[in-house]
Amino acid sequence: MGFQEFRGNADIVDRLRDMVARKRFPHAVVLAGPRGSGKYTLALMMARALNCLEQPVTPRLAGEGAPLELPDFCGKCSNCVRIGNALDLEARFAEAIETRENLRETDKKETRILVQTHPDVLVIPPDPPQMMIKVDQVRQVIESIYFRPQEGRERVYIFTDSAFMKEAANSLLKVLEEPPEFATIFLLTENAGELLPTIRSRSAMFTLSALPVAEIEGHLSKARPDWNAKQRALVARLAEGAVGRAQSFDLAGYTAARNHALAMVTSALRAADHSELFKVTESYRPGADGRAKIELLIRTIYSILEDMMFLESNAPELVRNSDIVGELKRLNESANFEWIAQASDRLAEVERGMRRNLLRSLSLDAFAVGMEK
Ligand SMILES: [Zn+2]
Repeated sequence: MGFQEFRGNADIVDRLRDMVARKRFPHAVVLAGPRGSGKYTLALMMARALNCLEQPVTPRLAGEGAPLELPDFCGKCSNCVRIGNALDLEARFAEAIETRENLRETDKKETRILVQTHPDVLVIPPDPPQMMIKVDQVRQVIESIYFRPQEGRERVYIFTDSAFMKEAANSLLKVLEEPPEFATIFLLTENAGELLPTIRSRSAMFTLSALPVAEIEGHLSKARPDWNAKQRALVARLAEGAVGRAQSFDLAGYTAARNHALAMVTSALRAADHSELFKVTESYRPGADGRAKIELLIRTIYSILEDMMFLESNAPELVRNSDIVGELKRLNESANFEWIAQASDRLAEVERGMRRNLLRSLSLDAFAVGMEK
């Protein structure tokens, strides 16, 4: 347990730890980088290092430079454990949504989604349905940030996305203009350009890169000997640089969803007969796990359309569903650039409809039929 578990970007991790050692941790840190580069994992590791009760030191990850050892976290003290409970962001986010759904109508409107597993560490994800950071969320940050930490040494706030509503961004800027001594704000973003320049200029900026596919494949050959080489290659590509996601990837679930996605795309491209297609969409009627299942299906259709686009643009090396390239090529024979683009647009419509909670299966049927040439 500790920073040696973090894969890649060793120099950046060491620089951040070095600032902890010198007690000069910035009041605001932008962690930029693609999906899967470990922004959230690293922010939570830093939150633990800043608040760990044991305060261990361990060797530098990059190996060179002085001092040879830098602050780490134990992963076992009460601060580490509680902060670590926020690691599964998807699950904590879903719980927060459910809690809000169960409130009275009047309270629902005023309740913003926040994730808090430790009194001094607050995670602020974009608030649905718009999936933006809202001013009320920033207000809740302001309510606590000027008070000394209760059980740790440093209050930590982690904004998991840079899609701020205008008023929210302006409120955050006011905090950054007069930040308290004992607080650190992490801003995670795939595109730092989305942040106000005035926010960026008050933050220390670090850009993480995703791990190369080959490195993840190498890691999987040790961590998942139950997968064959073809499967490891597929998972490494689908994990988009995230080694943790690769390791715990639900390959069976993905393969099932992909078979459905392929049936839908094939039917849209070729068949006049929709019976096969409706057999697929029929199995997606709302149920207990309906939403997660349909979200996986949609992501999978996207990945197939994307791969078809890569093949169409003569970039087969970018194809992620590398184990079914032959099948994808055959699909491409009936498709063209325009059709693929149009299908992606329609899929985006289905997603928007789902956020507005339209009848899920209905919009899926409409999508499948609407994709036809
Ligand atoms: Zn600890």
